[in-house]
Amino acid sequence: MKSTHPKAELTTASSKSNTNKPKKGLTDPLDTSVQYLKGVGPKLAQVFASRGIESARDLLYFFPRKYEDRSKLSPLKDLAEGQTASVKLTAHQHFSRPLKNRFSKLFEVKAYDSENQWISLKWFRTFKGFETKFNPGSTFIATGILKRFGSVREMVHPEIQFDLDDDLHVGRIVPVYTEIDGIPTKTLRKILDTAITLYVDLLHEDLPNFLLKKHGLPKLPLAIQEVHFPSENYIKAGNDLFTDFRSPAHQRLIYEEFFKFEYHVLSRKIDSEKERGYSFDPATLNTSLSRHLQKLPFHLTAGQTNALKEIFQDLTQPHPMNRLLQGDVGAGKTAVALLAALSAMDQGYQVALMAPTEILAEQHFQNSLRVFGATTAVRLLVGKTSAADRRTLQAQLESGTPMLVIGTHALIEDPIQFQKLGLAIIDEQHRFGVEQRKKLRAKSVVQPHSLLMTATPIPRTLALTAYGDLSVSIIRERPPGRTPIRTYLAHVNEQAKMVEIIRNEIHAGRQAYFIFPLVNDSEDEAFKHLTSAVSAAEKLATEVFPEFKVGLLHGQLSSAEKASVMENFRKNEVQILVSTTVVEVGVDVPNATIMVIEHAERFGLSQLHQLRGRIGRGQHASTCFLKTNRPAFIPTPERLEVMCETEDGFKIAEADLELRGPGEFLGTRQSGALPFKIASLVRDQDWLLKARADVEAMLATDPLIQNPEHKPFKDYLSHQGKREGDHLKTS
Ligand code: ADP
Ligand code: MG
Repeated sequence: MKSTHPKAELTTASSKSNTNKPKKGLTDPLDTSVQYLKGVGPKLAQVFASRGIESARDLLYFFPRKYEDRSKLSPLKDLAEGQTASVKLTAHQHFSRPLKNRFSKLFEVKAYDSENQWISLKWFRTFKGFETKFNPGSTFIATGILKRFGSVREMVHPEIQFDLDDDLHVGRIVPVYTEIDGIPTKTLRKILDTAITLYVDLLHEDLPNFLLKKHGLPKLPLAIQEVHFPSENYIKAGNDLFTDFRSPAHQRLIYEEFFKFEYHVLSRKIDSEKERGYSFDPATLNTSLSRHLQKLPFHLTAGQTNALKEIFQDLTQPHPMNRLLQGDVGAGKTAVALLAALSAMDQGYQVALMAPTEILAEQHFQNSLRVFGATTAVRLLVGKTSAADRRTLQAQLESGTPMLVIGTHALIEDPIQFQKLGLAIIDEQHRFGVEQRKKLRAKSVVQPHSLLMTATPIPRTLALTAYGDLSVSIIRERPPGRTPIRTYLAHVNEQAKMVEIIRNEIHAGRQAYFIFPLVNDSEDEAFKHLTSAVSAAEKLATEVFPEFKVGLLHGQLSSAEKASVMENFRKNEVQILVSTTVVEVGVDVPNATIMVIEHAERFGLSQLHQLRGRIGRGQHASTCFLKTNRPAFIPTPERLEVMCETEDGFKIAEADLELRGPGEFLGTRQSGALPFKIASLVRDQDWLLKARADVEAMLATDPLIQNPEHKPFKDYLSHQGKREGDHLKTS
C-alpha cells in the first residue's frame, strides 16, 4: 500500500531547519547513550539496556509509577499502621543477626525521633558499607511503610536519606519508579534528575501550539520535568492530581500519545479508502438479497438488517471494505455473513469464510446447506478434506467459478488461489493473527472486501485504537424468543442441589454442557487439585447421571471424532456434553440450556462469557452454574460476580478491560499494537476522544499537514513518526 500521507523518509536531524531549537550536529544529543551520563557507566548502562532504556531520551520517558508525598516530616507518634511516611531519626544502635537459612542475615537499626519515640528499621539485604552509616548519633530521614506490633514500631527496607540538605529525595513530592534490579531507588532518581537537567530542553515539541492552548496543556519539556519532579508551584493544585496521573503534565503526555496513535490509525484508514477494489452493483445486490431472505426461516432483527445495509453500502464502493461486525454470541452474525456471501456470489464473485476451528467451519457449512439448499455452490475446505477434493476445488477456484468456500486455516495454505475473491469473511477474528488475515486477502490479485466478525464485544476505547482503522457494525439485540440466562455461583456444598436441577431439565428434554479447564488429570503441583474433562466424563456417566448419555469433547481428539461427538450432541443422542473450552467459539445447539463451568475461577471474563453464550440460544430458559472449589467464605473473584450480574457483552467487555487491561484483551490479534507508556485506555478515555477529534479535524482541513500551525507535527512525522507508524500494525 502506498501512503499518500506525509510519512516521509527518515531524515537526519541536521537536515531540518529548526531555528528556535539548539543547533544540532548530525546526531541528536537525546540519542546519547545512557552510559555517558554522570553516575551511570558501562555496568549500569547494561542494566538499563535490559529494560529497553538505552538513550537519554529513553530515560526521560521512563515515567514514575507513583508518587510519595515527602513534603512533610512526620512525628512517629502521629503515624498509623500501614501509613507511608518520612521521619527524621537518630540512630541509637545497630546489629546483625543471621537468619534461619544461614545464607542471609537481618540488619536492624534502633532509632528515635525528636520526641523520643522509638522505631526499628530492618533490612534483609544490605550493601557493603551500609551498616557503618548508622553509627550511634547519626541522623537521617527514613521513608517507608509503618508497621506496628503493639507499642513496637517498625519499617522494613525503608529508603534512607543521610544528606539532610539534599532536596531530591525528601521535602517534596518524590517520584517512585518501577524498580530495576541492581539500581538502588535513590541512584535511579539521581540519574533521572541529571538526565532531565541536561536534556529536557532539547526535546522537540511535536504538538501544534494551538492544540496545547486549547486544552490548557504545558509544553513538552515542562511536562516531562514536572512528571518526574513535581515542583512546589505546580502541585499547589493538589498532589492527588499527580497520584492519579491527572496533573496537566500527565495529561499532556497522555494526550500526545493518543494524538500520535490516532493519526497513524486514521491516516491508514484514509489510505485504505484510496485502494482499488471490486465495486458491486447495488441493484443486483438488493435483488439477490430479497431472494435469499425468503429462504430464511426467520425475519432478520433490526440490528442484522442494519448491519447488512452497512455492509452492502461498503460493497458498492470502489475500495475494499474493511469492516468489523460485532455482535454478542448468538446475535446472528452468521446469517448476516451468509446473506452477504450469497449476494456476492450472485454477482459472479468468489467468497471465502474462514473460521478458527473445524467444528465451526463444519457448522457454518451445515447451516448454509440447511438454509439455502444443497444446490448453491458452497464447499467445505478443512484439514481432513481429501487431496482429490482439494484438487477439484482448487481448479474451480482458479478458473473463477463463483462459489463460497467455508474453511479453516486450510484456506490460507499455499496451493489455494482465488481467481476472483470478492469477499473474505473471517469468523471469530480475534482468534487469528494479523498475518493470517493478510494471507487470506493476498489469495486474490485484487484486494477483496473484508468482513471480520467477533463475538467478543470490543470496548469503545479499543474500537478507537486497536481497531480504529476499521468500520464497525454492531448487532446489539439478540433474535426474539430468547429467554435470559440465569447465572449462579455454585459452591462445593451446593453440588447435590445443582445435580437435581440439571436432572429435571434433561428429563424435560433439554441438554447440558459441563466445561472443564483440563483434558486429563495432571500431576503438576499447580493443577493437581483440578478435575479434568476425561475423569469427570467417566464419573458423570457412571455415578451421577447413569440414565443419560454422556459425550466427551476436547482438543486431543481427531477432527473426525470431534465432528461425530458434536453431531451426536446436536441430534440429542447425547444429553450431556463434557468438554474443554473447544466449545467456546460459535457452537450452536439451541436445545442445550444448562451450562456448568467447573473451576470457573480459572477462566477469564471474556472466556466465561463466550462459554455461557453456548446456552440461551433457543426458546427454553437457560441456566449457567459457575462452580468454584472455594468454600463460601472466601471472597468470590470479581469477574464471577460480573458474570452473575449481567449478560450484556459490552458491559462484560468493559469490566474485562478494567480488570485485565488491553493486552489480554487483544489476544493474538496484535502484540504490541498499543504502545502507550503513560496513557491508559481505562483511565484516560476522555483524552482519547479529544485526541481523536483533533486528529480528525486536522486531517479534514489539512490532509497533507502543510499548514504552518501543524508544522511541529509535520516535523515529527518526517522523523520519528515513520518509525512509530510502522510499529502500529492494525490490519
Ligand atoms: P452468532 O454467530 O452471532 O453467535 P449465529 O449466527 O450462530 O450467532 O446465530 C445463533 C442462532 O440464532 C442460530 O441458530 C441462527 O439460526 C439463529 N438466528 C439468527 N438470526 C435470527 C433471527 N433473526 N431470528 C431468529 N433466529 C435467528
Ligand atoms: Mg458465530
